[in-house]
Amino acid sequence: MSFEKLGLVPELFTAVDELGYTKATPVQKRVIPLVLEGKDVMATAQTGTGKTAAYALPILQLLNKKEIKEKTKRVVRALVLVPTRELAAQVGKSIEKYGKNFALKSCAVYGGVKFTPQTKKLERGIDILVATPGRLLEHIKQDNLNLSKVEIVVYDESDRILDMGFLEEIVTISKMIPKKRQTLLFSVEQSKAVKRFSELTLIKPIKVVINNQGDLAKKVRQTIYICDQDRKSALLSFMIGSRNWHQVLVFTKTRKSADEVGAYLEESGLKTLILHGDKAHSKRTKALRDFKAGTIRVLVATDIASRGLDIEELPHVINYELPGDAEDYIHRIGRTGRAGSEGEAISLVCKEEKSVLKDIEKLLKYALKVEFFEGFEPKEWIKKEANKHTIKAKIERSQEKRSKTANNVVGMRRKKANDRNAQKKATIKKRKK
Ligand code: AMP
Repeated sequence: MSFEKLGLVPELFTAVDELGYTKATPVQKRVIPLVLEGKDVMATAQTGTGKTAAYALPILQLLNKKEIKEKTKRVVRALVLVPTRELAAQVGKSIEKYGKNFALKSCAVYGGVKFTPQTKKLERGIDILVATPGRLLEHIKQDNLNLSKVEIVVYDESDRILDMGFLEEIVTISKMIPKKRQTLLFSVEQSKAVKRFSELTLIKPIKVVINNQGDLAKKVRQTIYICDQDRKSALLSFMIGSRNWHQVLVFTKTRKSADEVGAYLEESGLKTLILHGDKAHSKRTKALRDFKAGTIRVLVATDIASRGLDIEELPHVINYELPGDAEDYIHRIGRTGRAGSEGEAISLVCKEEKSVLKDIEKLLKYALKVEFFEGFEPKEWIKKEANKHTIKAKIERSQEKRSKTANNVVGMRRKKANDRNAQKKATIKKRKK
């Protein structure tokens, strides 16, 4: 369906046309008309499904309709709350591009960068503000903005906002926004946390569910390589090198292992950068830029750091370690196979991680393909295989076979004797009668 048919004005559909969006994605088809009608919406959609445009385009149209007089100072009329700095920066940029034919002003505020340039932008007046909860509250404390004129609020990746421990901040911010407003709640997964969020924000929204988790994961070719933990780094570097992969996103469970794996790959001659929460924002932005541009081959990231990453058509995602939470597996592999392109997700799984693997399969509702990578088979398995071919094992096997045959013969004899006894007893019984 074209954007025009969804009720968007020419300024918007020409802007998205220039970005190469020819057809609306499913989430856009469902959400755009509802937002234009002023409805509260609760939508479940993964990053990469076009959810930013699904809320940003109708918001721009609604705010533009009520364009304020040139001389009055702009106040925040739409607030978009997001969990991470990366997502804030990305959403901020998208809104600028979508609204380029309007005179509306937008900006993104988030931590890890200087405060003053953000303050100056806010002072000049903003219509649409994208923010992470922590930095937003800091600006409010400094009296840099007030939220009393907010007409529309978006909680983007609301489940992640709660996962990251922003509940208190959300409660505080929600109290500062007028009760009479339009609320749009987006989440990656349907979970109890999201239900709680909708209760917290006091809305009775229209629910939209796009792409259940299993469907999304089915689009990605998934392989599990069972191997020993201490051989994972070697296998990882061999796999990337021998298959000549050039844009690989590697996930680790902790910052420490991200650092270790990153250092190992770099030493093996693969140009690698590490992305995790300890890194300064400027370093994280640079890492992402270089990775997107293809100047580095491998990006090693933790789950938190990867949220909201928009890297289109990423061909390979490797889970160096499975995530602690099965739902994060879906989120990780959602980085590949985006926008209809086929992707590949590989997981290196050691013995200790098999229970997490079971949890993931339960969530996906199907079993994953499990293999060994030649030359990196687990030691325990190699030992078992080797045992099969030793002389001792051969003798043991033939002894076992012989004793089975002997048991069978004894068993058969016993059966025949039992049958004979039964027959005798039956004849005696008959005679007595
Ligand atoms: P999002 O889910 O908002 O992070 O969007 C994921 C990616 O899809 C971004 O790179 C968008 O620019 C792109 N995108 C969003 N809507 C469309 C569309 N209708 N057609 C093609 N690409 C789109």
